[in-house]
Amino acid sequence: MSRRVVVIGAGIGGLSASIALAARGYRVTVLEKQARPGGKMAEVRANGFRWDTGPSVITMRHVYEQLFALAGRRLEDYVQLVPLQPLTRYFWPDGVVLDAVSDQDAMAENIRVAFGPGEAERYRRFMRYVARLHEVVGPPFLYRRKPALRDLLSLPLADVLRLDALRTMHQAISSFFKTPHLRQLFGRFATYNGSSPYRAPATLNVIAHVEMAQGAWYPRGGVYQLALAFERLARELGVELCYQTPVAEIELHHRRVCGVRAEGGVRLPADAVVCNADYTLAQESLLPERRPAPKLEPSCSGFVLLIGARGDWAQLAHHNIFFTDDYPREFADIFERCVAPTNPTLYVCITSKTDPSHAPPGCENWFVLVNAPYLSPAFDWSRQAEPYTSHVLEQLRMWLERIAPFGQRLEVIHLDRWTPADLQARYGGYRGAIYGFSSNTRLAAFSRPNNRDPRMRGLYFAGGSVHPGGGVPLVTLSGMAAAQCVAEDWPV
Ligand SMILES: Cc1cc2nc3c(=O)[nH]c(=O)nc-3n(C[C@H](O)[C@H](O)[C@H](O)COP(=O)(O)OP(=O)(O)OC[C@H]3O[C@@H](n4cnc5c(N)ncnc54)[C@H](O)[C@@H]3O)c2cc1C
Repeated sequence: MSRRVVVIGAGIGGLSASIALAARGYRVTVLEKQARPGGKMAEVRANGFRWDTGPSVITMRHVYEQLFALAGRRLEDYVQLVPLQPLTRYFWPDGVVLDAVSDQDAMAENIRVAFGPGEAERYRRFMRYVARLHEVVGPPFLYRRKPALRDLLSLPLADVLRLDALRTMHQAISSFFKTPHLRQLFGRFATYNGSSPYRAPATLNVIAHVEMAQGAWYPRGGVYQLALAFERLARELGVELCYQTPVAEIELHHRRVCGVRAEGGVRLPADAVVCNADYTLAQESLLPERRPAPKLEPSCSGFVLLIGARGDWAQLAHHNIFFTDDYPREFADIFERCVAPTNPTLYVCITSKTDPSHAPPGCENWFVLVNAPYLSPAFDWSRQAEPYTSHVLEQLRMWLERIAPFGQRLEVIHLDRWTPADLQARYGGYRGAIYGFSSNTRLAAFSRPNNRDPRMRGLYFAGGSVHPGGGVPLVTLSGMAAAQCVAEDWPV
């Protein structure tokens, strides 16, 4: 009889772990408290509109291909990933508009037209720098088990220096580009794991390579289709998925995990447990010996508006960024003052540009995301939610007035709002963080919790709050890493 593994949570990390385990021959049961898979990868439908409410930018296609290949399947047989061009349309307050594309010649040309030949040449140099960064960062920090500081010592000195961990992202980017626009554009990639370009080490510039060289993808039908593809593959491999089954406790016998107890009292024995619930909350509430929260800074959270907009906004692409004119202030608001930014950068994703059925005829589905601080006493969302919604809508209207010809106005026919407090209530992320812990220190990659619990045998973690970190591709890798640890400790 093969070994049984219980996975707590059917988020992308939990599903990835279940697929990788079932593909190796384990008997896997997933207990998920919600009535659906996907965790933060979710969708909402209302008034003829449909929105993805979590991730909207999917990068690192090869990671999902690798997961499906583990099970002898092809990703494209489960979900169609559409390459997006432009990747993102960027708007600045001074009227500059730039389409970011993954073809480097075309991107250099777009930059030349907007900022001149010098910046275009510097862009090419920057892209060579981030490609080299990917070569040295990928193996030790992303594609393998969690690195220890001593692993750094085993790297050739030249590679250690190429990690570029002593500068911040912003410092490194500024050493390439002269225009504030491009410094801001490339600095924005820090937010892909909930961090600040003014504090995160330059090593994170690798994210620019991941999106700008490798590309970004949109799962046809909506990002949620990716979660459904993971779920379908898991079922085909024999994974048992139990929804609306919250786990109350991970059970121990002589410091060794022996199963879980669901709310309501049902017990499920297991040789190993993979926990996809948020790491800190699991420490505080699921383990029989409660442990204090790790002293790590949470990632940023988000303030979300789901807008049903009347009209066809031809000036907008699938992904759009309206940049603030004071980026340092925005990140100081988020990470130092811990308040919602007064003058925020607005991200607007419109999947109906690619999938017209996501909005009624003559309308568009706008998902608006503002980076927001993790929850703290410094900002009371119960009092601020309403005025902040009006503020963000006003900022959006100001932007649209600038770019819309012939006085086209935003007409909102559906509006929904999710604050960081709502995100925490829905998804259970510690302090409303949406990417686990921030990467705002040089040692973040080393201090992030491991996929294998160091103290309890048989306990593993998968998800954004553990190695290698937040965001859909890394969370998928974390599930595969957790499965690898189980396979090493408890061979089938
Ligand atoms: C607004 C927003 C925008 C984002 N944008 C992007 C983006 O563009 N690109 C990108 O790559 N990433 C993005 N992310 C981040 C990405 O969504 C996450 O990193 C990833 O989905 C997290 O997956 P996970 O498996 O770690 O956790 P989760 O998705 O949180 O899944 C954990 C699961 O565990 C379940 N669970 C928890 N406790 C229990 C329990 N006791 N018993 C049973 N089940 C339990 C939960 O219900 C949940 O289903 C975004 C996130 C948000 C919220």
